[in-house]
Amino acid sequence: MNDSPLGFYVHVPFCTVKCSYCDFNSYAGIEDMQAEWLAAALVEAKLWAPRLMGRRVSTIFIGGGTPSLLSGDSVSRLLDEIRRRIDIDQDAEITLEANPESVEPERLNAYREAGVNRISMGVQSLDASELVFLDRIHSAARAEWAFETIRSAGFDNVNLDLIYGLPCQSLETWQSTVERVLGWNGHGPDHLSCYALTVEEGTPLAARVTAGRVIEADPDLVADIADWTSERLMRAGFEQYETSNYARDGLRCEHNLIYWRNQEYAAIGPGAHGFVDGARYQVVRSPRVYIDRLRPDHELGQVPEGLPSPAIVGAERPSERENLIDTLTSGLRLMEGVDESSLPDTYDEFRPTLDWAVDSGLARRADGRLSLTRRGHAVANEIFVRLLEVAPA
Ligand code: SF4
Repeated sequence: MNDSPLGFYVHVPFCTVKCSYCDFNSYAGIEDMQAEWLAAALVEAKLWAPRLMGRRVSTIFIGGGTPSLLSGDSVSRLLDEIRRRIDIDQDAEITLEANPESVEPERLNAYREAGVNRISMGVQSLDASELVFLDRIHSAARAEWAFETIRSAGFDNVNLDLIYGLPCQSLETWQSTVERVLGWNGHGPDHLSCYALTVEEGTPLAARVTAGRVIEADPDLVADIADWTSERLMRAGFEQYETSNYARDGLRCEHNLIYWRNQEYAAIGPGAHGFVDGARYQVVRSPRVYIDRLRPDHELGQVPEGLPSPAIVGAERPSERENLIDTLTSGLRLMEGVDESSLPDTYDEFRPTLDWAVDSGLARRADGRLSLTRRGHAVANEIFVRLLEVAPA
């Protein structure tokens, strides 16, 4: 029996508008598919149940998209079905992603009654011009109201997502956003994810950058913002446990820790990626095709790697070496680093590169673990590129 923790991810593809920088599998204008999406997700959860027998699920993450567009009844039916068929820990972390404009008191109460115990809200910025640049449709006042409403509904584990490194952003506007959210409701959030903006290929933002209509932020300013953020949040009582993530009172995101520790997770919903029994798989991206493939009368047909959902369109079993690279490149994002003694023999191929990182002051070894130093985190992507360039023995 495999007793390592398993995560369970549900992808909700609906958004009110599509933000210019976003390459997630989310769509505006398809709200009328919500009932069919729910019916399909319930079928997909049921198909996964036999495959997950004997596995202990310690986290559920309802992500998107904008899951806070779902009714309380939809979330309740979804979680009831998952719990009825799959062994979910009594004290599992159950996160639902929200956006300020769709937060509603009644829905929040219903989510809590359904078992959601963590809310992750995409605030991104409190500066009006930055919100316009990002195509976000909430105001700073609405975001603060939404946070207070989430607290009033009894959620004591709340994350806020913020984005820095915007072309129109200064250190001062970023500092103002951070200081304001830290003061919300007297205590601020329990967790903060502060991500640097990345220009993703194929997005409207990438087209604007290519056309010269948007100039990317100065990398020195981005580095200054990252340094200030880390120092300020630690002073406010947060622990930085991952390159971009900060937690108070031990409230780390257990679901994301599963990803960063390269552990396994089942995933359902259009465009979701999962990792179960050593196989990585993807679910079809199109919500319409997803719904059609999960109709009860759909032929199961040939699903890659013998996986249980007819909505899965691709799967592969990474080699030990590929898996090790994933363990290193995700685990070294964590301040705890990786346990070198648990790594397979192929790790020897990567030792010279990591010895170089230690000798250069970019990584350190302590108590059998290898982790990046503060300087190492600042140039983590360069270290990861060197790891990917290591030729197979
Ligand atoms: S709200 Fe989030 S998921 Fe939806 S389009 Fe914007 S960034 Fe993407």
